[in-house]
Amino acid sequence: MDSGFCFIWSSLTVNWRLRGSDLTHVRRAEANDLFKALEEQYKEDFPNPELSDEELQDVFESWTLQMGYPVITVTRDYALGTVNVNQERFLLTNSSSTDVHDYKWWVPLTFTTKTEKDFTDTATKEWLKRTEENKQLTTLTPVTSDWVLFNIQQTGFYRVNYDTTNWKLLISQLNSDQYEVIPPVNRAQLLDDAFNLARAGLLDYSILFSLTDYLARETDYIPWYAAFNGFSFLNTRLNKAPDSEYSVFKNYVLSLLEKVYTTLGFEEKTTDGHVDRLNRNLILTWACRLGHADCIQKATQHFNAFVSDQNANKVAPDLQSVVYCNGLGNSDGAGFDVLWEKAQSTDVSTEQVLILGILGCTAHEDSAHKYINQSYSEETPIRQQDISLVLSSVTSYGNVDFLTSYIQKHYQDRSPSQVRSLISSAANLLRSEDQFSKLEDFVQSNKVYLDVTDEQATSLLSSYHSNKAWATTTGSTILTQMKQQIYRLPTTISPVNYVIRLTPHLEEDRFNFDGEVTITINVAEYTNQIVLHASDMVVDTAATQVTHSDGTVQTISSHETNELRETYTITLVDSLVVGQQYNVYIKFLGNLRDDMYGFYRSYYTVGGADSSERLYGLSPVRWLASTQFESTYARRAFPCFDEPALKATFQINIGRSSTYTSVSNMKIERTDTSDPNLVWDIYQTTPVMSTYLLAFLVSDFEKTENDAQDTSVWHRADAASQASYSIGVSRPLIDAMVTFTGVTFELEKMDQAAIPDFSAGAMENWGLVTYRYSLILVIRTFSDRERLILFDETVSTSADKQGIATTIAHEFAHQWFGNLVSPRWWSYAWLNEGFATYFEWFITAEVEKDWRIEDQFVIKEVQVALAADCLESSHPMTNLVNSPADISSIFDSISYAKAGSVIRMMSHFLSTSIFKAGLNTYLNTHHHNTAEASDLFTALHTTFLTVNPSSEISVIDVMNTWTTQMGYPVITVNRNYDTGRTAKVKQERFLLTTSADSSDDHDYKWWIPLTFTTNASKDFTTTQTQIWLKASENEIDLTDIAANDDWVIFNKQQIGFYRVNYDDTNWNLIISHLNSDQFTDIHVLNRAQLLDDSLSLARAGILDYTTALNITKYLSREDDYIPWYSAFTAFSFLDARLIGVEEEYQLFKKIASPSNVTIPADVSSVVYCTALREGGEEEWTFLKAQYDSSNVGTEQVLLLTALGCSTGTQIITNYLDLSISAESGIRKQDASRVFSAVYANPSGVDIAFQFLTENYQKISEFYGGLGTIGSILKGIAARISTQEQLIKLQSFVAENEAALGDAVTASKQAIETAQANLDWVASNRAALVTWLREQSPATPEVTTLFTPTTTQGATCITISTTLIVLASLSEMLRVSTAIILTCLSCTLSSAHLNSPSSSSNDTTASTQYRLPGDVIPRSYVIKLIPKLYGDFVFNGTVEMTTEVVENTETITFHIDDLEIDEDSVVVRNLAADITVDVTNQTFDEVHNFYTLTLKQELEKGNEYNIFINYNGHHRDDMRGFYRSSYVNSTGDTV
Ligand SMILES: [Zn+2]
Repeated sequence: MDSGFCFIWSSLTVNWRLRGSDLTHVRRAEANDLFKALEEQYKEDFPNPELSDEELQDVFESWTLQMGYPVITVTRDYALGTVNVNQERFLLTNSSSTDVHDYKWWVPLTFTTKTEKDFTDTATKEWLKRTEENKQLTTLTPVTSDWVLFNIQQTGFYRVNYDTTNWKLLISQLNSDQYEVIPPVNRAQLLDDAFNLARAGLLDYSILFSLTDYLARETDYIPWYAAFNGFSFLNTRLNKAPDSEYSVFKNYVLSLLEKVYTTLGFEEKTTDGHVDRLNRNLILTWACRLGHADCIQKATQHFNAFVSDQNANKVAPDLQSVVYCNGLGNSDGAGFDVLWEKAQSTDVSTEQVLILGILGCTAHEDSAHKYINQSYSEETPIRQQDISLVLSSVTSYGNVDFLTSYIQKHYQDRSPSQVRSLISSAANLLRSEDQFSKLEDFVQSNKVYLDVTDEQATSLLSSYHSNKAWATTTGSTILTQMKQQIYRLPTTISPVNYVIRLTPHLEEDRFNFDGEVTITINVAEYTNQIVLHASDMVVDTAATQVTHSDGTVQTISSHETNELRETYTITLVDSLVVGQQYNVYIKFLGNLRDDMYGFYRSYYTVGGADSSERLYGLSPVRWLASTQFESTYARRAFPCFDEPALKATFQINIGRSSTYTSVSNMKIERTDTSDPNLVWDIYQTTPVMSTYLLAFLVSDFEKTENDAQDTSVWHRADAASQASYSIGVSRPLIDAMVTFTGVTFELEKMDQAAIPDFSAGAMENWGLVTYRYSLILVIRTFSDRERLILFDETVSTSADKQGIATTIAHEFAHQWFGNLVSPRWWSYAWLNEGFATYFEWFITAEVEKDWRIEDQFVIKEVQVALAADCLESSHPMTNLVNSPADISSIFDSISYAKAGSVIRMMSHFLSTSIFKAGLNTYLNTHHHNTAEASDLFTALHTTFLTVNPSSEISVIDVMNTWTTQMGYPVITVNRNYDTGRTAKVKQERFLLTTSADSSDDHDYKWWIPLTFTTNASKDFTTTQTQIWLKASENEIDLTDIAANDDWVIFNKQQIGFYRVNYDDTNWNLIISHLNSDQFTDIHVLNRAQLLDDSLSLARAGILDYTTALNITKYLSREDDYIPWYSAFTAFSFLDARLIGVEEEYQLFKKIASPSNVTIPADVSSVVYCTALREGGEEEWTFLKAQYDSSNVGTEQVLLLTALGCSTGTQIITNYLDLSISAESGIRKQDASRVFSAVYANPSGVDIAFQFLTENYQKISEFYGGLGTIGSILKGIAARISTQEQLIKLQSFVAENEAALGDAVTASKQAIETAQANLDWVASNRAALVTWLREQSPATPEVTTLFTPTTTQGATCITISTTLIVLASLSEMLRVSTAIILTCLSCTLSSAHLNSPSSSSNDTTASTQYRLPGDVIPRSYVIKLIPKLYGDFVFNGTVEMTTEVVENTETITFHIDDLEIDEDSVVVRNLAADITVDVTNQTFDEVHNFYTLTLKQELEKGNEYNIFINYNGHHRDDMRGFYRSSYVNSTGDTV
């Protein structure tokens, strides 16, 4: 008998109070007989019946003769107090059915309200007739704030939906301590209805999840049973989503389970009732399934005890399924065997069924296979009726990989139809592409055995695709709403003002702070709960008070803190009144953390290691307390509504000891010294602002001010001299922002502070910008956002100085973009960071006019963004985020560099004047408020229309294509040289690599502002859009472009955020112009663009490398920093790919005593690194000591980076160890730099990775999270150059997927990058090396790389960068010898080892002084260790790669004034990889010939390597590698 059918009858009978009716009659009698009986009883009970006989007949028929049942939708008019109900058939999925039947029912309505709360009267209150689609109820007029609930005790066979407000009223009741006023059956009904309505698309998942939230209080079996029906549906589908997403669901359900789990406990109790045991089984089953740690641990313990002694350690019957399944999941084959034995030996059939249903849980592959075999075995002890349990337990609880491996191993023992059925079961369980491809491979290669056509083969596996499709569409929407539900605050309440009192305790044994906050709130929607953020603090709940603005104290019924959501919830007995204000007072104790987030502690030391203070036993450590609140850390300093849109005013009060000072966003209004122990600084109230922009600093810092005393820098006392540059540049930068935006800076002062420990580079807190203290760093990588505020002329580089100015400009730009107008939510973080990035350069350019700042923007932002945004795993600028981890992940190069570049493009297509005026409108419209992207575009569009009233361009449409889609286009220009002067321009998305299984079918198109110029016009300065390539167009035709022999170049000054490709002819026209003396006709930014575009297009496989590399040839003429920088970016990619992990560097060792030498700051990084690469432990220890004793932050960072250059495995491993130890003296903020320094060193890649895999738990503890692991993995992956390394990385990520948590996405991107790089090597290396060989000169050259320089500034940057470029190039080419001499006084000379000439045509009869010419050199690798004291003897090694032109038994080359170590000479045949013995070595002093005689003949065409170690003299005759000297200012000869 169908249980649903039964339910209708019981429902009707109960409604009509015919409890005496014998339902078994239904089976025996005709339906009509029953109707008659019911009808008579009805008339008896109701002498004045509401329904006529015919109607009564129709009631029966409406339920028995139609399929399905209705959903009742309750809609209330809250103003009038009326209630409407409407009925329609409930269908889970709305297929386009042809069923035109008009489904309507006679619906017996029952209901109650909050005031009434009558859940016992189940009599029909009103009928919704079959003739009525909807009606207004006559007997129900609830008061506005009451909820109404229909279908008392779920006696009616229908579902109920409500309007959103009524749902919220019900939810609010359930989320209070009085949730039990709704009885368990109706709580279960609300859950069951909501889950199914959501699944049918009739209810928003966000409402469902705010309802399920109440389960955190629920302990009753009935509602939990209903809840797990719903969650179970979601679980089997959502577990097909990526782990990082699925974990949102798991963690959410686990958080709800916590109370009921604790209440029930794992162990059975003597007081348990029947339902308690049912409930425990249900709750434990789910807790363990979702990975509840305590549950799994206890289950495993019980199981192991059971396995060791079954009789002594019996498992209680109701715990068996949980213990057995989870025990098997953590056990080897022995556990399985014990249970399998038990299943066969037990004579209790229920026990046997239970075990058979659970054996599939095994984590032991052979056991799983053994078990599956049982279901096919003739001799199996399992009874036929139970045989299906085998496969169902495997497919319900088992590991799908075991099922796949079973199929692969045993398919020939099974019939084709059995295998097909196993395959489709497995397909439904597959979670990853990897698992899928294994199964698919099997199917594809066994189609004959399986007896399937291609089509059938595909359909066997089709459930994998449909599951995946569901997970990525519906599933991802559900997870998004779940996240939103979990992480966003309710919209019921908004803050108006905060009064905050904080007293930090910096004594070393306390490190906490006392706090009090009074928040004035506005009530926007009906609620009796106040939910706000609080994290890492203890709230003194007894002190919490909620007071109406008229002084009435509200009674609090409960307090709750939620760690997952970082919330504190106050529930009140009575509701708050909408539109009224209340004050919430909270007292708390917070922690001064050491992880640089929230209100945290930091320190610095006074003096060096041997300072007098240390000698006299005084503590050199100075503690301070500072803040970093962006994005979600204000909640660690005080309870607050910690979302950017929940703006308020803040009045801050800081209690401190008299030896400290405090500083905050506003000026101090007064200082209260009446308390003898504590000085109170009372600050002015802030403007309306977001929580994340608050800041305060309690320290013994001093300040340096400007003359107007409205701008200052706070720093430790001994750094005063270093603040002068930043203080000088600050006010002019503010003024430049005011001029540009036309909006004043409204605070009276601007403080800045240099903080010793700082997580970000800098933070734009309104009126108190904080910076990382580091004074310097060099070897600036492109992604390095390390910034600084203090500058020292003697140790800081030019790049550092520029870094200071641009960092300050960036943070000041935020005072308008971010602080005055804030993003409505973090999804619009780019509105902050994009503008700050844009102004960082364009405002600095107003102040430092000769730095070519606008040009640098192109190479350091535009090209960086283009490189970041060309992966499939990119994301749009406007990107939905929810959890704190999501939010921090959006602060990436898309929000900074891409947004800044897109804004620059926008400023050009609008024109500067429209751009400025539009921004002014935007700021004035939204000041002290929030905005989203459309607000910005609307302001700009309105301004645009005032100037271009008839324009068909919509700024909103144009910009949406750039901000809501990820990626960017490559435009391809195909000129027609036959018809002449015409061209086709098409757009498509640019991707570096395209994966075969990409599921992204979005049609990427952009509104592209095209600009171009030609050889004839050479106009690179007009940057207004010449023509739009619209988002509706794939391709357009351009006419009258250029004459056939004129080149065309698109995207002037690389203002458009896109790449450009051309036909071969046009590329060649450009190449030949670049390789002429007139190459500077092409704008310097377009030279950089041509390099960047062509090499990137080649890397993506769109352009051949020959064309791209032919462009680079022109670099031999180029002396400008900008194109070189672009070239270097591309070369470093090639370099890393080509060099692999071989260590062949031509570097120079610097030793001797550095203490009396000054190395110019701009080249010191090169010198230090080189010294360590060539040196050993002694050099490393020396530099580490330099680091320990240095108190100049910039130099420290530089040394830290250089320390990673060592090639000693043990040295590097020790160094990494130090970096994650608290006592190392390495600052936490700098620790990750140790990693990047190590893996940037080719010999360090493997060591860094090995260290990471062995210590990742320790590392994540040290950093307090996994974010750093992700970025280290990415860094390592980018340098992976062998298949072995990739495999190691893949298996590490696979094995630790669960533990990697938030870092999983980054890890997978890392694998993607590494794979792409290896693929690249496989397909391009050979071609590239060939090209390089073709280009290389027959005669190696000795190149002078840099010349002595004493000037600081732009030139010096150029020189040192070029140095790196060339060093890198030479390593890559390995065909021209570059000798870098970085001697102590930073002068340069060329080596004595001049190359022999091989250009002679006379290769047989050698003239007196000419070499025989039968062996010619191809490349040299030379290492030199100069010694500039004592006997001036230098040591050298040379490795010559030579080619044999004629067969010979000797090799002759030049030396002069060198002593060759005969034992060191090695000659190797490169092709055969064997050593050729040297039988004799002679030196001809007259001709300077050194000749090696070999045991066997060298063959023509082969390459040989000759390795020689030797000593030489630094001569004093200015010839060769000679010595020189100068007298320094103290009169000493150096
Ligand atoms: Zn910023």
